[in-house]
Amino acid sequence: MKRVLITGGAGFLGSHLCDRFIKEGYHVIAMDNLITGSMKNIEHLFKLPQFEFYHQDVSKYIHVPGSLDYILHFASPASPIDYLKIPIQTLKVGSLGTHHLLGLAKAKGARMLIASTSEVYGDPHVHPQNEDYWGNVNPIGPRGVYDEAKRFQEAMTMAYHTFHGLETRIVRIFNTYGPRMRLDDGRALPAFIGQAIKGEDLTVFGDGSQTRSFCYVDDLIEGIYRLLLSDYAYPVNVGNPDEITIKEFAEEIIKLTGTKQKIVYKPLPKDDPKQRRPDITRAKELLGWEPKVSRAEGLKITYEFFKNTLEN
Ligand code: NAD
Ligand code: UDP
Repeated sequence: MKRVLITGGAGFLGSHLCDRFIKEGYHVIAMDNLITGSMKNIEHLFKLPQFEFYHQDVSKYIHVPGSLDYILHFASPASPIDYLKIPIQTLKVGSLGTHHLLGLAKAKGARMLIASTSEVYGDPHVHPQNEDYWGNVNPIGPRGVYDEAKRFQEAMTMAYHTFHGLETRIVRIFNTYGPRMRLDDGRALPAFIGQAIKGEDLTVFGDGSQTRSFCYVDDLIEGIYRLLLSDYAYPVNVGNPDEITIKEFAEEIIKLTGTKQKIVYKPLPKDDPKQRRPDITRAKELLGWEPKVSRAEGLKITYEFFKNTLEN
């Protein structure tokens, strides 16, 4: 049985990865310090002998007994309000945490995949964003703690690949949504659905003309799985190119939930990217991957999840 270590395993994406690797017949070790994650996301896996959980901060020294075939580093606060609340931990998990995990991968002869992000492109001057664009990031702005940690993470990972011959993979993830997001994580989708359910007005930041491109979680996990098993060491965008303005997105949620609430406008956070859409040519050509779930389908499933969460 192949053994995989998934950091951030109790988080939104990490827990979906745990499910996928269990389904594919792997022994899965989830590692998490629960700073933004929840045991609820993985409690259904605890009865399985091929699943283990390590409660650990990966920014500190990591010890894992036994062999490892793959390491997927997904530990990091990911929503703007989380990483603004815990900026130093965010910088540490992307830098020190990544270094520890690369060292572990080298010691075990494991292949390492890191969760990078569309935020490495910052507030982009190239649209849509392809992997050859170097980005427009403000290192000392509020988002810099996340963006620069992720850029360092990519640089460190490439260095281990080049200098130590380590097998590495880099996925640049664009805005992803689905069940197990936290209602209070401040990201646009949980914020809007939460507000609609609670009978509050939907808070659109700025004039709502900024764009994002939302990918359903199952599509993302499939792209990551294929990238891990590919032989490609350079960054690959994985996301859904179906772009929408945030105002239109809020209107879609109003329609979906049937709420009588309206949109209210709040100040745009500093350095909020004006537009974002992945160029997924590379993922299509290398991995034969493209998203399959439409926003209409994905939003319906996610809305049901949030309703159930609030009822139970
Ligand atoms: P999440 O907050 O739900 O999950 C992150 C997990 O990492 C949490 O369970 C948290 O407790 C854990 N963690 C944080 N710091 C840790 C540390 N020092 N040691 C151990 N565990 C730690 O966020 P998510 O949306 O699932 O994001 C997962 C990864 O994907 C992150 O690396 C994020 O940067 C990346 N990503 C996510 C998105 C997205 O749209 N969700 C987009 C781009 C990149
Ligand atoms: N946003 C918004 N209202 C909210 C939360 C977010 O208008 O209550 C906006 C935010 O300013 C950004 C977009 O929605 O322009 C997506 O924000 P999110 O935090 O989901 O992701 P990111 O900015 O990291 O792409």
